[in-house]
Amino acid sequence: MSSVSIRKIRKSFAGLTVLDSVDMEIAPGEFIVILGPSGCGKSTLLNVIAGLDDCESGQIVIDAVDVSGLEPSQRGLAMVFQSYALFPAMTVRRNLSFGMEVAGTPKPTIVQKVDWVAKLLQIEALLDRKPGQLSGGQRQRVAIGRALVRSSSICLFDEPLSNLDAKLRAETRVELKQLHETLKSTMIYVTHDQIEAMTMADRVAVMHKGRVEQFAPPQSIYEKPASLFVAGFVGSPA
Ligand code: ADP
Ligand code: MG
Repeated sequence: MSSVSIRKIRKSFAGLTVLDSVDMEIAPGEFIVILGPSGCGKSTLLNVIAGLDDCESGQIVIDAVDVSGLEPSQRGLAMVFQSYALFPAMTVRRNLSFGMEVAGTPKPTIVQKVDWVAKLLQIEALLDRKPGQLSGGQRQRVAIGRALVRSSSICLFDEPLSNLDAKLRAETRVELKQLHETLKSTMIYVTHDQIEAMTMADRVAVMHKGRVEQFAPPQSIYEKPASLFVAGFVGSPA
């Protein structure tokens, strides 16, 4: 479990401000959902946390260490994208182990970790298949597994369920929550879906035009929206 501090992050693309002094203190083991409409800066914020994107000012601090200058691979976090980005020519087993092979992880550790996630995510029977032979939901599990073998202490998710149908989305929401209980990892989960946010989060950060308008537990967001935007977006009565 790790704490994550996002401090005064600013970023713009071609003169347009995309992140406007974003501040968030995330406690170890929290499940945080970043909620907001398309284009409000959610993916950019996640990419800045992961180190996949730079920012003009501000800091990302993980467990009291400023990681702002570190490469993504040095930050000790796992990221799951909307497009699963699995390697099509590799088996599921190889998809899971490849990152560790590249990083020079000892073989017995690789085998142990692959067995662990395969069991955790119930994909043991799929290990010798290739991504093309999997359903959308199965590919999604493999993508989550691939992230978890890298790090299970901080996991970043960027709209990971948006390519699934409604039934599978609902099931996977429940499973992700169970996974969070089991691993006790710190999870930062981006979505534009209010139901996902309200059902999964310990706290929700509602974003609008590059700013966090409210950062609070789902119930307070719903009962005491901090602005008209928040009230309108989560559909609360105010
Ligand atoms: P969200 O994930 O909430 O939909 P994004 O973080 O992807 O939003 O984008 C926020 C804003 O930044 C949008 O206006 C988008 O067009 C812009 N943007 C994102 N990435 C780039 C880029 N690489 N170059 C220029 N503009 C970008
Ligand atoms: Mg996005």
